[in-house]
Amino acid sequence: MTAASPDRQAFHGFVAKHSRLLLTTHVNPDGDGLGSEVAVALWLRALGKQVRVLNDSPVPAAYVFLTRHVPIETFEPEAAERAFDEADALVVLDVSNRQRIGRLAPLLDRHLVPIAVVDHHVTHAQGFGQVNVIEPEASATGEIVYDLIRESGRELDPDLAEALYVALMTDTGSFRFSNTDSHAHRMAADLLTHGLDPQRIHAQVHAHASAARLRFFGEVLAGLELLEGGRIVVLDAAPEQFQKHGLVGADTEGLVDMPRNIAEVEAVVLFSEVEPGKVKVSMRSTGRISVDRLASSLGGGGHPHAAGVSLRGTRAAARELILPELHRLVAALPPGPRP
Ligand code: 5GP
Ligand code: MN
Repeated sequence: MTAASPDRQAFHGFVAKHSRLLLTTHVNPDGDGLGSEVAVALWLRALGKQVRVLNDSPVPAAYVFLTRHVPIETFEPEAAERAFDEADALVVLDVSNRQRIGRLAPLLDRHLVPIAVVDHHVTHAQGFGQVNVIEPEASATGEIVYDLIRESGRELDPDLAEALYVALMTDTGSFRFSNTDSHAHRMAADLLTHGLDPQRIHAQVHAHASAARLRFFGEVLAGLELLEGGRIVVLDAAPEQFQKHGLVGADTEGLVDMPRNIAEVEAVVLFSEVEPGKVKVSMRSTGRISVDRLASSLGGGGHPHAAGVSLRGTRAAARELILPELHRLVAALPPGPRP
């Protein structure tokens, strides 16, 4: 880990210089984006700064418990204008691609607010801030935030530890994805010394499945297709299935990860069409192929083993774009089973 790299030092300088900070993360925020926001908000507040957190999309039910100390606002045009008027700086977490902050992005053209980006996505390697702390080797943005907080000399407390634990736990798939390294485990061990109850946090995050969501998962999984002798799994979810079960795009979280358990699988792809004509493609690799370049070549992004893109058009058209490329990536692998 790059202790107090020049970029990190620049971030500390950025924080010292500003006093009214607005924080945001990517559209459809996950545990890492939200946990990082709450941790940074608590840290900056303790330094006497004014902090406001504003996202494009609402906080999913699984993460509402994080907002009990730090309110998280959802985009609303007038309130967003005021938030930008009041702020003297913007901190962008878990995303370094301007478009991915959603409806906040156009406000950056009208409000010349200085920006600091903290992220771990490799495909957006250049951030759009004056300060960019982008460390793709970090398993979660929360891991970078943890390092920054410790570098600042601030002691952790239970609320900070909880927010950081949520960030780390969710982005590492509960410490089982390939990004889970010794730094992630050391960080978790340190967080646990600050009075966390991991069992309770896991229950809060994961105990939000509705019966409708499980039925939907069941339906989509029942339709899974195996290609390339089982090395590629394709899942497909149609708008009628979302409607029938009363679900939204965020409800697919975790679905694309399930077929990774099939022994031969190298890649899983989920085509979900929440609204007709808008297809969200989620890709996962079990470790041997990288899917981030394929996603970024189509305007999306992510990590080598988890990436995505939103496409306009039909699911059939999305398949035409994605599957031949996935076939190529998988065909280039040595024959035989996964090591
Ligand atoms: P998921 O498939 O769970 O939505 O996303 C997996 C990873 O890919 C996440 O790290 C996410 O940030 C990234 N990702 C997903 N969709 C998009 C997209 O439309 N654009 C970009 N740039 N990244 C995406
Ligand atoms: Mn993340």
